[in-house]
Amino acid sequence: MKKLVLASGNRGKLKEFRDLLANRDFDVLAQSDFSLDSAEETGLTFVENALLKARHVCRQTGLPALADDSGIEVDALQGAPGIYSARFAGANASDEANNQKLLAELANVPDKKRSARYQCVLVLMRHTEDPTPLICQGSWEGFILREPKGTGGFGYDPLFYVPTHQCSAAELDSAVKNQISHRAVAMRALLQALAHFHVADS
Ligand code: IMP
Repeated sequence: MKKLVLASGNRGKLKEFRDLLANRDFDVLAQSDFSLDSAEETGLTFVENALLKARHVCRQTGLPALADDSGIEVDALQGAPGIYSARFAGANASDEANNQKLLAELANVPDKKRSARYQCVLVLMRHTEDPTPLICQGSWEGFILREPKGTGGFGYDPLFYVPTHQCSAAELDSAVKNQISHRAVAMRALLQALAHFHVADS
């Protein structure tokens, strides 16, 4: 088996990646199995932040690492909150506070101009100095609603209208979300790319 450390403390993501990579001969270890401090996300793009997280975990564990970075881009806000999605309303802001801030910033924006998309970047880095890390990306198109709808999902999901399913992301069944989301698209790209990407056994 090839060992891989997931650079995330999220148990949900750990399970998803374990399931996905199990039959590709990967043993996905949790970051929490090691005593690691967290990486500083000082990049200006999702790609840079995912690379920083993956490199940080490679450095501290000596093992290959998989990292993701995601967020929402709103066209009427020139792509904001983007990489700052988790901290849009301030450091450690709640989902509720971030959503309220987004609604306030879009108060005068008409329906047709409320287009947005979730973005997800995945990075697989084999070692700290890996010159060709695997980088995969997925996006999910939608619109920002005028009020929250639904109770599922997390983050901006109650405000993210999914035209293909005519409901908010928070109203979708989680199994459906996991098939069509930005993360699902990026994960499928990762699986395809892995066919041509050599990771040494550990
Ligand atoms: P992270 O990359 O998991 O840290 O996510 C960054 C932030 O982007 C989250 O805190 C959410 O605000 C937002 N985000 C990313 N993916 C989703 C999603 O699937 N639903 C809702 N919000 C998301």
